[in-house]
Amino acid sequence: MTRPAIPFGRPSISEAERAAVMAVLGQDILTHGPRVREFEQVFAAFAGDGAHCLAVSSCMAALHLAYLHLGLGPGDEVIVPAQTHTATAHAVEAVGARPVFVDCEEATGNIDPALIADAITPRTRAVSLVHFIGIPCRMHEILGIASRHGLSVVEDCALAVGARYDGRHVGLFGDIGCFSFYPVKHLTTAEGGMVTTRHQQVASAVAALRAFGVDRSHGERAIPGMYDVVAFGLNYRMSELQAALGVEQVKRVDALLSARRSNFLHLQSALAEIDELTVLDSRDELAVSSHYCMSIVLRGALAPRRDGIVARLNALGVGTSIYYPRPVPGMTYYRTKYGYHPENFPNAENISRHSIALPIAPHVTSDDVDYIADCLKGAIAASSMA
Ligand SMILES: *Cc1c(COP(=O)(O)O)cnc(C)c1O
Repeated sequence: MTRPAIPFGRPSISEAERAAVMAVLGQDILTHGPRVREFEQVFAAFAGDGAHCLAVSSCMAALHLAYLHLGLGPGDEVIVPAQTHTATAHAVEAVGARPVFVDCEEATGNIDPALIADAITPRTRAVSLVHFIGIPCRMHEILGIASRHGLSVVEDCALAVGARYDGRHVGLFGDIGCFSFYPVKHLTTAEGGMVTTRHQQVASAVAALRAFGVDRSHGERAIPGMYDVVAFGLNYRMSELQAALGVEQVKRVDALLSARRSNFLHLQSALAEIDELTVLDSRDELAVSSHYCMSIVLRGALAPRRDGIVARLNALGVGTSIYYPRPVPGMTYYRTKYGYHPENFPNAENISRHSIALPIAPHVTSDDVDYIADCLKGAIAASSMA
């Protein structure tokens, strides 16, 4: 029996979304216009808490803007989770500051708050964190440490649309939150990102920084072509086509999130009988995950068999990924620049070496979940005979 393959991720694009993008092409404003403002408004309404939202060209752009806004540069240090996407660290490098990496918790993959304090030096200016695969960090603890040491907090929420902690959407705890709308994330605009903050003055400063540092956009110019440059700035704007797609995606956000959640719960129970694996998840009752994927960490005799199990799953048409393939400080660029001691990052190393990320996005049906579970059990059994 041949069965269509289940990719790890697949963007969910509806007819309404196609139509919205085509409608933009029939108009004259193609970037940084009314669709972008609408996308920012609907995203803000979804996040709640009086969020200010600024659409940008990617999450990497959002993170870069965060450090530019905070005025960080050479001589400054930022605490960065070791287990994350490289963008979390590259944004610190982009302003010439130094990332100081910290290991994660074993159960969640999130930065371990207990280790943050040890990494603080007189040069530390900020703490960055990632809500790993949608599991919210323990924000009260992290904010407590940051405020005791006078540090800014930057949240990488690229995998965390819909994740909440103690009722508040992630990205609204620290100074700045940064979201990604890359194709396989919870919401997509093909490429795109969002800066979120509860602080009006942060929002106005970042608004200027994302658009060349000019003081007014086209619609605000009394005399066409007349403007001033009041700050340094870049071009990290979002196009109207992307924003039109984003507006439609936000209308479906609850359905998209609940599909991930039910796939996660279904797959979790289907895998419960397998002893030698742990599902990364939060046990914190204040945490609501956005279930980006299901990352299973193989233990005991299964741990060294990860790559063989992945190969069998892929051969059976089950797409997989690894979040993330190496702790960022172990990636060649960072290892070469700063040196790397894997023994300082045992939990991040364990996740990189022994985990498999399984698909649970909205394209995965309930039948697919059963198939994924059966294939995993088969792949485990086969791997023990190899
Ligand atoms: C995808 C991702 C990014 C990068 O997002 P882009 O929008 O592609 O720049 C950053 N951080 C994390 C945790 C991610 O998963």
